Parts: sequence; C-alpha cells; structure tokens
Amino acid sequence: MDRQPSTLGGTDDPRGCRAGVDVRLFLRPDEDRNMAREWAQRQLPGLLASGATVIRSDQEHRKIVVIDDEVVLIGSLNSLSNTPGTTREIMIAMEGRAFAARLLAELRVAEIGTPRACRACGRTMDVRRSRSKAAGLFWHCRPCNNRVAL
Ligand SMILES: [Zn+2]
Repeated sequence: MDRQPSTLGGTDDPRGCRAGVDVRLFLRPDEDRNMAREWAQRQLPGLLASGATVIRSDQEHRKIVVIDDEVVLIGSLNSLSNTPGTTREIMIAMEGRAFAARLLAELRVAEIGTPRACRACGRTMDVRRSRSKAAGLFWHCRPCNNRVAL
C-alpha cells in the first residue's frame, strides 16, 4: 500500500500563487512510475488549478527550489511529496544570485520554463530528453507523438 504523502502547503491551498508569486514547477510525466501512482494522480488536478505553471519533464531528477533568483534549496527532499517526520531527506539552502543564475541556466529554465502547446492538438507538451546526447531536449506531445526540438 502506498503511503499518502503530504504536500507543501497542500495542492488545494495555493496561497503562493494567489499572492502573485510566479511558481514554475517541473514535474515528472505521467508515465513515470511514481507519477503513475494513484496518490500522485489524485494531487494533479489541484496542482494544475493552483495557478502554478506546471512543466512536465523527464529532463531532471535533482530536487531544486529557486526562490527570487537568489535562494537555492538543493538536496534529496521531494518538496511536493513527503510525509513530515518520516523522511531522512535533506535540503541545503544557499544564497547568491550568481549561483542561482548559473543553476537556472544549466537547467535551461529560460527555454523550458514556459509550456508550449502542440500545434496539432493544442495540448500542453512535455519536455523530453533524447536518448542521444547529441539530440538533446525536445518538446513532445504524447498523443500526437509530435516532437519539436529546443
Ligand atoms: Zn498534440
């Protein structure tokens, strides 16, 4: 049986987004083994309705939070799915605009931080990582199998 993880602030409580905070969230695609679980799928509608910009991507596995282009939290804690008191995960906080800028550039947030709609069907596309390093990242619409290179 899956444990029921709590969510940071609760996906049905999007106070940050209501306060005018620009929240961009990179989340694994539905076919990811954890995202395919019932508890994860149950959280998704609230998250999508919260006002946060949600980008589905298999590009990254690191757990990173960047706040105001200055504070970086990085570590092993899934900030959206953990049960307080039952995890041994950690996050380290670092302050510095240069480090935050370098990390955002490395993650290519300027390129993939705004979801792109599929020209064929209009659905929001996912960011995918090519198996070939030379091909790199691309936008992908799973229903259409439409691919757009970054
Ligand atoms: Zn499509």
